[in-house]
Amino acid sequence: MFEVNQGIIQVSYIIATILFILALGGLSNQETARRGNWYGITGMAIALVATLAGDVTQNFALLMVALLVGGSVGIFAARRVQMTQMPELVAILHSLVGMAAVAVGFANFMDPGRLSHYVGVELTIHDIETYLGILIGAVTFSGSVIAFGKLSGRISGSPLILPARHWLNLLILLGAIWFAYQFVVQSADGGGLNPLLIMTVLALLFGIHMVMAIGGADMPVVVSMLNSYSGWAASATGFMLGNDLLIVTGALVGSSGAILSYIMCRAMNRKFLAVIAGGFGTGGGAAAAGGGEDQGEVVAIDTQETAELLLNAREVMIIPGYGMAVAQAQHTVFEITRTLREKGVNVRFGIHPVAGRMPGHMNVLLAEAKVPYDIVFEMDEINEDFPDVDVSVVIGANDIVNPSALTDPNSPIAGMPVLECWKGKISIVLKRSMATGYAGVQNPLFFEENTRMLFGDAKETLDEVLKAL
Ligand code: NDP
Repeated sequence: MFEVNQGIIQVSYIIATILFILALGGLSNQETARRGNWYGITGMAIALVATLAGDVTQNFALLMVALLVGGSVGIFAARRVQMTQMPELVAILHSLVGMAAVAVGFANFMDPGRLSHYVGVELTIHDIETYLGILIGAVTFSGSVIAFGKLSGRISGSPLILPARHWLNLLILLGAIWFAYQFVVQSADGGGLNPLLIMTVLALLFGIHMVMAIGGADMPVVVSMLNSYSGWAASATGFMLGNDLLIVTGALVGSSGAILSYIMCRAMNRKFLAVIAGGFGTGGGAAAAGGGEDQGEVVAIDTQETAELLLNAREVMIIPGYGMAVAQAQHTVFEITRTLREKGVNVRFGIHPVAGRMPGHMNVLLAEAKVPYDIVFEMDEINEDFPDVDVSVVIGANDIVNPSALTDPNSPIAGMPVLECWKGKISIVLKRSMATGYAGVQNPLFFEENTRMLFGDAKETLDEVLKAL
């Protein structure tokens, strides 16, 4: 009976793994993303049931209570969270993965059966797995908590640059290696708690220091990097527990997060190691008002004139940014798009890879508003088309359309490719004030001759534009 159960459980694990791989495949494309999500949900449900059936032998009731409490908190948080707070939610969820890895690691180490279960080389391997699981988990935990603080504006976005910070990191790394040796040696004699505890503290400090040193402008990479770390922490826990599914799932999350970090780095023209080394970008989050008065005059426009410009255009490019998410203007944007298309105007969307506050932020909003996928383009696909664009509508975007990224080597966003809308006939920028965006830099686009500013909350102004249309 036990054998059969184990067989069923192994098969369930394999099915769940396949579903997770299909989920990742599905999520890579907007048209299949919804299906990808369902693969993921089904895979996770199967994994959960199989683990409960296969591994839980005692305290079933306690586990069910914990599952219910955890599940309810998750549902409550996910329902309540605003789309603009999503990156913070993701960051804090990563911290839970890290915390779980630390907790499981310590529980595993303190398991009285450990020394009778493993001997010799097996014990050493098991100890190293435990050590690594706790190490990666602790870095993920404290790093994610700091990332949560930075993304939600509770902690300043400016990089914390300690003197000799690279030496400090090196010292922590050497310390971690030394205590690993101490831990393995002492553990064979029934000890090892002290080096494990010291390493945990060091890893927590390292996580805090690493993310504190990263400037606001690099936060997109940090979000995906911590995603990757949480995967490796889960994978290390899988090795610790001898659970194949956790190893594979963790590796999937770890490697996809690493690939995403690479893509984000490329999108921002940054080197991954330079991001980790930190110190790039000024304060983020809160927009600094004013600034740039000496750059010239801006020309304002009203909603009536905007509607006329749009109706007289043949080619319209909509560039959404973080402000569209704040204003929740995506449904009005869709209505405007539909109206213009019915009148024969070719409307397309240009999406910057780091627009908004999380990877894919704009795509999610546009999909929610049912904007057809075939008119939504990546930056690389349409950046060359701007000279043929009659009207670009920049909705609550700032950094992603900032020409100084290309012209000013001292800018915090220097080198980041941007949507070059100023090359079109006219750009209309929708925002509430002259405040800067996430990277805290003023935008010369607003002062260009062919730029018009449509001031106000994007939802309110676009509602009026729609009426005028
Ligand atoms: P920005 O933060 O550069 O600009 C957003 C603009 O929206 C602001 O200038 C603000 O101006 C305006 N805005 C805010 N609320 C409203 C509203 N209700 N109505 C109209 N406008 C509004 O956003 P971008 O999308 O251009 O760039 C993204 C930035 O975020 C980049 O610097 C990127 O590196 C960073 N980032 C991206 C992440 C990602 O994964 N995508 C993660 C973390 C950071 P005003 O106040 O005047 O209205």
